Amino acid sequence: MEITQNKLLIANRGEIAVRIIRAAKELGIRTVAVYSTADADSLHVQLADEAICVGTEKSKDSYLNINNILSAAISTGCNAIHPGYGFLAENDKFIEQVEEIGLKFVGPRAEVVRKLGDKAEARKIAKSSNVPIVEGSDGVVTDVNEGIKIANKIGYPVMIKAVSGGGGRGISVVYSNKEFLAVFEKTSQEAEISFGNKAVYIEKFIAKPRHIEVQILADNHGNYIHLYERDCSIQRRNQKMIEEAPSSEINDLVRRRIGLASLRIAKKVGYTNAGTIEFILDKDDKFYFIEMNTRIQVEHPVTEMITGIDLVKEQIRIAYDNKLNIKQRDVKIVGHAIECRINAEDPLNNFRPSPGEIKRILVPGGMGVRFDSFIYPNYHIPPYYDSMLGKLIVVAPTRREAIRKMRVALEQLVIEGVQTNIEYQYMIIHHPEFIKGKYDTSFIAKFHALVMEENNAEVTE
Ligand code: ADP
Repeated sequence: MEITQNKLLIANRGEIAVRIIRAAKELGIRTVAVYSTADADSLHVQLADEAICVGTEKSKDSYLNINNILSAAISTGCNAIHPGYGFLAENDKFIEQVEEIGLKFVGPRAEVVRKLGDKAEARKIAKSSNVPIVEGSDGVVTDVNEGIKIANKIGYPVMIKAVSGGGGRGISVVYSNKEFLAVFEKTSQEAEISFGNKAVYIEKFIAKPRHIEVQILADNHGNYIHLYERDCSIQRRNQKMIEEAPSSEINDLVRRRIGLASLRIAKKVGYTNAGTIEFILDKDDKFYFIEMNTRIQVEHPVTEMITGIDLVKEQIRIAYDNKLNIKQRDVKIVGHAIECRINAEDPLNNFRPSPGEIKRILVPGGMGVRFDSFIYPNYHIPPYYDSMLGKLIVVAPTRREAIRKMRVALEQLVIEGVQTNIEYQYMIIHHPEFIKGKYDTSFIAKFHALVMEENNAEVTE
């Protein structure tokens, strides 16, 4: 089928819906947006060729409403669905239904998503692909006493993780047997509430690691490539805030090995479309698989900026059965890219979300500056969804220059009407540890304590 005759439904909102609409338009594909009643004025609704309301404000009634989304796709004559990230992107039951009604899903097959979505199962897949995993339980741990035995065997501290967890939730660190008893139950109960699955597993807690992840692409014809790594160690409570590519920490040998390890996992499960294999890297440059995300990631642009490959376009091309026309040897890293997530939140008040009306917005431009967003003047940010307003991304020949470019870009990004984390991001990229590239996942905890201390001192002076 000619790609120009296709029509794609975007089952998402916000910046990623806008991002997908742009990619589809560039490919000559018609687009259908879905929206909740709270999003009638949203940019993705205005940019798509057609838009259809799928329910009321709450996600569960609209963006997670499988029946309404499938009906929207069928009634508008779409032949494919792009799920973006979050919402239904990794819901294997949704994907199965998309497959059953004969639509193309822009992502891997339901069966593959199911396997990798179970993080204990994913560990087994990594192990059998000869990829190192963090020491831990063989699978799900149902009994607290068995859990304590495993924790003692591998040694504290350990992590208790929900098998269905995501977005940094469903993870706890435990330092002693006494703590284990209480935390095991609590994590399991929280997992049941958040993810509908109380199963947990145990992993050794690696002190001060880097979070390194590898982007891969695979078509429906057995071709696989990786697009090198992203470093996402600037995290708050296991949630990413700043991402960069390539990582300043790993050398070419580790880079090559982690790329090949990622491809082994992808091949093992017959993975198709875009995916990310996440690892933690310890002080000795040893990497360990932690999980695979079977969708496009928020931080995908840093990879695009250093490889010149449009990942969302590739995703759509792959879903429409096209062969990858990029060979591994053609994937080259050129320059250094950094992304800062810009959120409507108040960092000094426990990052409390700050919904409201955007009164003024000025977006920086110039060579190597990109702002993926969906906000515009007088747009009202609804309180029902996540607080990300956009992603500021820069690319420059060296990391040093990228940092300087990001500083200027953050200085020139003006968003008024809601509170944002722009200044907070600005402070991070001026921090000596960040500048040196010598940071790990514990960076924000320390940094934030210092920011709060200074702020309190100012208030009481
Ligand atoms: P999620 O699916 O919620 O993103 P992950 O398993 O990917 O959860 O872990 C999120 C973050 O938690 C990682 O990026 C890392 O910072 C931290 N983390 C996960 N596993 C470990 C571990 N075994 N030791 C230390 N930190 C870890």
